[in-house]
Amino acid sequence: MPDLAERLAAVRAEIADAARAAGRSENELTTIVVTKFHPAGLVRELHALGVRNVGENRHQEAMAKASELAELDDLTWHFIGQLQSNKARQVRRYSHIVHSVDRPALVEALARRDGDPAGEVTEVFLQLNLTDDPERGGVAPDRLEPLAERALAAPGLRVLGVMAVAPLGEEPRAAFARVREASDRLRSLAPEARAISAGMSGDFREAILEGATHLRIGTAITGSRPAPR
Ligand SMILES: *Cc1c(COP(=O)(O)O)cnc(C)c1O
Repeated sequence: MPDLAERLAAVRAEIADAARAAGRSENELTTIVVTKFHPAGLVRELHALGVRNVGENRHQEAMAKASELAELDDLTWHFIGQLQSNKARQVRRYSHIVHSVDRPALVEALARRDGDPAGEVTEVFLQLNLTDDPERGGVAPDRLEPLAERALAAPGLRVLGVMAVAPLGEEPRAAFARVREASDRLRSLAPEARAISAGMSGDFREAILEGATHLRIGTAITGSRPAPR
């Protein structure tokens, strides 16, 4: 069994290789190591190996880890899971970047309110639902523009770009091409919102080839996840 450092190095090498194949610079890519279900100790080990971006998908668990690891103050916490509006203000306290903004109510819940510190900004991705199942997180791609307009107008939010998970049963490259197309539409409203959060353990190569800038990689680096608690 390769250990954590070896798996991290192997994934970094594959990312570098895919970037070369895409004619892109590795410097354009942010690798977020998804640590959901793993103990805070694993995040500490990753930090010692140079990882500075970690992703979590459940509020209670993420909040507990972020507070336990508060002394690692150069870590950036990414919230990547479905988010209830009534949890949004809490998530905003420890997450620097929320990848799962998919409806106006969540935009309003994350936005800065009167009395909040003036300079405080939450960076967000607008999540696309690439399936036909409305229960999945994400806005339907043809509803992206109205959501983007809300998010761009909301105080205290900075829209970085679009986020998506490739659906089962579709070739990932084709799915990520649809994400790229949605990204182009977002950029015509907000030229600076050019980031694309896409690519997981099984499909980050295809995501890089279609322009992903933020990769969310779990098991390929961490090994298999413990059962959720
Ligand atoms: C768990 C998760 C990932 C990472 O998945 P792996 O297949 O373990 O790489 C990426 N994105 C989201 C939204 C996730 O929930």
